[in-house]
Amino acid sequence: MSVALFGGTFNPVHIGHLRIAVEFAELLEVDSLRMIPCSLPPHRETLTVSADQRMAMLKAALSDYPQLVADDLELQRGGPTYTIDTLRQIRQQIGSDMPLYLCVGVDVLATLDSWREWRQLTHYCHLVVSARPNYQLPEAGPLADWIKQHRCDDLQQLKQCSAGKLHLCDTTMLAISSTEIRDKSRRGETIDFLTPATVVNYIHQHHLYE
Ligand code: ATP
Repeated sequence: MSVALFGGTFNPVHIGHLRIAVEFAELLEVDSLRMIPCSLPPHRETLTVSADQRMAMLKAALSDYPQLVADDLELQRGGPTYTIDTLRQIRQQIGSDMPLYLCVGVDVLATLDSWREWRQLTHYCHLVVSARPNYQLPEAGPLADWIKQHRCDDLQQLKQCSAGKLHLCDTTMLAISSTEIRDKSRRGETIDFLTPATVVNYIHQHHLYE
């Protein structure tokens, strides 16, 4: 048994997110991959989209994939979102022995040292980083040292312990972003095939991003 977490704003969720989520789930052989929308400060929320609507779109996108789960844990907690709090909360739910993976993009890894209690993250989970070939890791400084200390290229080693390591893997990064979907919607252009049809329908029905 093992669990993976994949956080984001998901405003809205799109095919790039879903593709990477299934690749993480397959690679890590997890029982479930929880996609967790973060709460947004009011100025980042577009005027017409609520947290409930981001969650509804995520649920609509995942309805055919029982392995991918929409988890509203951070929205329920409210206030500023700190990943370390989420990890503590999930560890309470699943106990200390089960492998727990936090999946992030290499761009996120580069700014990890700005996160609250970032050095403690691997006390609770493994960090699995999606990195395309030719990626640039930080070369010097505390974050670079921390990455070197925790890096483990053997995925089997991660699967055999519950937390503590950092693994870099090559996953598909489709050239799609939520920003592009919001911009196209605003311009009245089609957003078909950038996000599942269920999400396209939801956006149209609720007049989001207009
Ligand atoms: P925005 O355009 O609003 O900034 P976004 O499309 O980047 O949004 P987020 O919800 O911010 O989406 O991203 C959540 C996570 O998904 C991040 O770890 C990010 O690296 C990853 N991600 C975003 N877009 C893609 C993509 N096309 N392929 C793979 N991973 C992606």
